[in-house]
Amino acid sequence: MRRKLAAGNWKMNGTQAALAELATLAARPAAGCDVLICPPATLLSRAADAAGTAIALGGQDCHAATSGAHTGDISAAMLADAGASHVITGHSERRSDHGESDAMVKAKSEAAMAAGLTVVLCLGEDLDQREAGTTLAVIGAQLAGSLPAGATGDTLVVAYEPVWAIGTGLTPTLDQIAEVHAFLRAELTGHLGAPAADIRLLYGGSVKPSNAAEIFAVDDVDGALVGGASLKAADFGAIIDALDAA
Ligand code: PEP
Repeated sequence: MRRKLAAGNWKMNGTQAALAELATLAARPAAGCDVLICPPATLLSRAADAAGTAIALGGQDCHAATSGAHTGDISAAMLADAGASHVITGHSERRSDHGESDAMVKAKSEAAMAAGLTVVLCLGEDLDQREAGTTLAVIGAQLAGSLPAGATGDTLVVAYEPVWAIGTGLTPTLDQIAEVHAFLRAELTGHLGAPAADIRLLYGGSVKPSNAAEIFAVDDVDGALVGGASLKAADFGAIIDALDAA
């Protein structure tokens, strides 16, 4: 049985004042699903105090190396040391802003697993690929190229995030989400065998309180990776409630 997961990605948003939102979230009645917030790395240590035990924390990226001459980068062990249990890898903004390839994402994901972090691996097609009908081919190739070796349900979460839906207010149809999630489950099974059944599949891209319930009712959607709507405790709390009710 896969435990549902509501994951928030604050991206490059938030200074210390934002921790009040985290504290508000932590003060809510215990959720029946897992809750994860990935704040900017600068806030991780203090977020650990605000989040208590109710909310897991994650980084938004890590370097593939354990340490060394990589100015400005953060290793997986540093994230863990600061209080993170998870890390996002392969987010489309990392792929586009920093030219991250599937091979780099795989190396980062394996470094994260080696440091004891659970990886939230992001995949998704852009609008041209969706319109050209190559969505499944693109996602299959991303998964094959970036899947960390030896992943299990304890060490890996996969997030389907259509690039054209991130931060745009656009979402795929429910049938399109179902098609990709069924495809991902089958591909994961092909790569990993039986352990694939335990890997949670998140949908991400313009999830908000008003559309969360219908998305969470889709087969093989085990939760969401949420950007903008994770910044406010009221919005993210409503999404958590929708996931609990699904
Ligand atoms: C994201 O950045 O992972 C994301 C899904 O953003 P948003 O919810 O704002 O579309």
